[in-house]
Amino acid sequence: MPPVTCLLGGTVCAVAGMLPDLDSGPGVPMRESVAFAAAIAPMLLLQRFYQMGLPMEAIILAGAAVYALIRFGVTWLLEHYSVHRGMFHSLPAAAIAGQLTFLTFSHDDPMRRYFISGGVVLGFLTHLVLDEIWSVRLGLFGTKVKKAFGTALKFHGPVLWSNIVAYVLLIALGLIAASDAARTERMSMARQQMEQARSYQTMPAPYNYRR
Ligand SMILES: [Zn+2]
Repeated sequence: MPPVTCLLGGTVCAVAGMLPDLDSGPGVPMRESVAFAAAIAPMLLLQRFYQMGLPMEAIILAGAAVYALIRFGVTWLLEHYSVHRGMFHSLPAAAIAGQLTFLTFSHDDPMRRYFISGGVVLGFLTHLVLDEIWSVRLGLFGTKVKKAFGTALKFHGPVLWSNIVAYVLLIALGLIAASDAARTERMSMARQQMEQARSYQTMPAPYNYRR
């Protein structure tokens, strides 16, 4: 990967490491993380807007709309519906974060999309693993396990509706991401073939020189 892609991958990995704690209720961490996501998401979407053929004015308006949607819409959702150590701290949530990044970050080179969304999943998982590690304490009289043990790295939570929402999102985004990935792969193959054909045309024919 080129250095700048690595730098972006490292940055989104670090930010994704804070994502699961968005469920910890209103406060400075939540406000700052949501504001950060609201600022970054329109930038990641730029390539998508270009591909749609939008004029510059429409791109600016769309960016502002995405900002407002995340800044106010997501904040409202988080304040009203998230439960600490609920489905935000779960393996399906890590996958959803990766899928959302994959769909937002559009690039001609499919490998770079896998790389960046992989960075998000890695950061998210790091948080979940650390949460689990910190819920076990090694003491003089054996190990002590906190009540929170097992609430971070999990496949489903105790609340039915949040499980349903998480898995419906996971499957729907998975299908959209898979078809989008197939499209990008096809396009990059076609581009490679075109470049190859062009380089054959411009190459001097070798038999001319042999004679
Ligand atoms: Zn946590």
